[in-house]
This record gives sequence, C-alpha cells and structure tokens, in this order.
Amino acid sequence: MSALIIDGRAVAASVREEVKARVGELTALGARPGLGVVLCGDDAASATYVRLKGQVAEELGIRVDERRPPADSSTEAIREIVLAMDEDDGIDGILVQLPLPAQIDPDAVMAAVRPDKDADGLHPLNFGLLAQGAPAPVVSCTPAGCMELLRRSGVPTRGSRAVVIGRSAIVGRPMAMLLVNADCTVTMCHSRTADLPAVCRTADILVAAIGRPGMITADYVKPGACVIDVGTSSVDGKLRGDVDRASVEPVAGWLTPVPGGVGPMTIAMLMHNTVSLCAARRGSGQPPTRP
Ligand code: NAP
Repeated sequence: MSALIIDGRAVAASVREEVKARVGELTALGARPGLGVVLCGDDAASATYVRLKGQVAEELGIRVDERRPPADSSTEAIREIVLAMDEDDGIDGILVQLPLPAQIDPDAVMAAVRPDKDADGLHPLNFGLLAQGAPAPVVSCTPAGCMELLRRSGVPTRGSRAVVIGRSAIVGRPMAMLLVNADCTVTMCHSRTADLPAVCRTADILVAAIGRPGMITADYVKPGACVIDVGTSSVDGKLRGDVDRASVEPVAGWLTPVPGGVGPMTIAMLMHNTVSLCAARRGSGQPPTRP
C-alpha cells in the first residue's frame, strides 16, 4: 500500500476560488472585505509571510491596510494601531504578525483585537466558542485548513480515533477541538506523553504539530491511517515536516506532504475568515459559512 498524497496546493486553490466569489458578492453589496495587517520588527520570515498574505488577499479582491510600525515600538503604540483598526468600518479582519519584538507584550496586543475582527481565530472568545462545541465564526487558520483537507479528501471522522501531537493554542488545542466537534474520539499528546508511538498507533487520523523534523516514522502509524503533517522546520535551507515521508508513505492511507500540504491552506483559511467576518458584521446578512 502507498498513501494517497493530499495535494494542499490544489485544495487551497479551490478554497481561494470560493472566497473570491464571495468577495465579489460582498463588494457588489458595497461591503468590499478589508484586512488590516500589523507587521512590527525585522523578522525576515514574518516579512515574507506578510508579503504572501497581502498578495493573496489582493488577488482575491480583499483590500489590505498594512502598517509597519518601527521595531522599537512600545506595546501601547501597537495596541493603538489595533484599536484604530477595531474602529475602522472598512477593516473586517485584523492580523498581527507574530512574533512581535521582545519589548512588546503579545497578549496585551492580541487582547486589543475585537473578536468580530479576529482574522486569525485566536481570540479567547472564539476559542471558547469552539471549545463549547458552538459554531465559532472563525477558527485558527492552520487547524481549520487541516479539517478542510480531511473533509475534501473524504477522510471519515465520525467515530474515528484521532491523535494530535502538540498542545499549542495556535495549532494543537484548536485542532483537537475541531476533531471532537467532527465526532472523532481524540487524544492530545505532548512532550510528556508516555510511549508516544503506541498512542499514535491507535490513530485513524494522526496530526503532527511538533516542530521536530522527521520525528514521525512508520513506528507511529497505524496501517491505513491519515497522517496530517503540520510541522515546518528549515533544515539545510529546505522546508521539512515532522513526518519522515519515506518511512510513513508505504504504511499510511493518506499523507500531507511538506511543502505543499497544510501550509497553503493556512493562508487560504485566513482569507476565508476575513470574508466570513465581513459577511457576518456588515455584508450579506448571512451567517458565516464553511468554505
Ligand atoms: P509549539 O508551540 O512549539 O508546540 C509544539 C508542541 O509539540 C508542544 O505542545 C510540545 O509539547 C510538543 N512536542 C515537542 N517535542 C515533542 C516530542 N518530542 N514529543 C511529543 N510532543 C512534543 O509549536 P506550534 O506553534 O504548535 O507549531 C508546531 C509546528 O507546526 C511547528 O513546526 C510550526 O512551524 C508548524 N506550523 C505550521 C503552520 C503551517 O501553516 N504549516 C502553521 C503553524 C505552525 P509541550 O507542550 O509539552 O512542550
């Protein structure tokens, strides 16, 4: 057996097409979606991500309002930019690119983002709704993208056993909540989990969000399982996932590659969130929908 390789680039392209159509509808109603972006500091990777996000937004017809405050800005100065975006009716989603410079308190900045403009889906209110099993208007982009990959690849979730490795607020925790809400029986693992390979081998769906390149080998994988590789690490200038593809591909039923798996979905879901927030707050009057 050899795993079916899930083409994240193709799935992300279809999500973007759907988002573009919704942008067109909203713009025709006089509510062109807008994304506010705050990039502070000299982190080269952050600058690349912001450029990519801006490019995709503009391709889809989303207006981008980008602010680049100086790297020595204070927490209060960044909060003021965010608070002004909160009040700006033309901005539907706010993205504060992390990490922020060391002197800035990221929690204080993120707390300034209105929950109904929370493009990244990281606000405690939106996370709380997800944890309650209520329909959350927006969900953290990377886990939301993983769910779309499962859904559009026909991977069954109801009654399936899922194991998520990683418990961060951005990926692991919301991923586990989404899988529970999709009727999986979920185990969340982390660096203190005992006998991790044995726990992982119980999984019909295994999500690796660790940041340790190549750690997940065939020993961790139940034959036929769906393996979602969220990890991205730079090794000798190349992007590597948490999964050792050569070892896992012959065993798994489905596998997301790195690059070209989860990564492209994250930006597509950011655009989806922005448009859903626009529709919910000032657009068609329809509730946000899945892409
Ligand atoms: P993080 O905050 O560093 O969390 C990593 C998690 O992995 C932690 O919960 C940690 O456990 C766990 N872990 C570390 N070593 C482990 C081990 N040996 N065995 C079991 N668990 C272990 O990272 P993150 O922000 O969630 O990101 C995870 C990975 O996904 C990174 O590679 C990141 O670059 C990538 N990522 C990719 C995208 C994308 O768009 N493709 C988006 C976001 C993140 P403890 O909690 O016990 O420390």
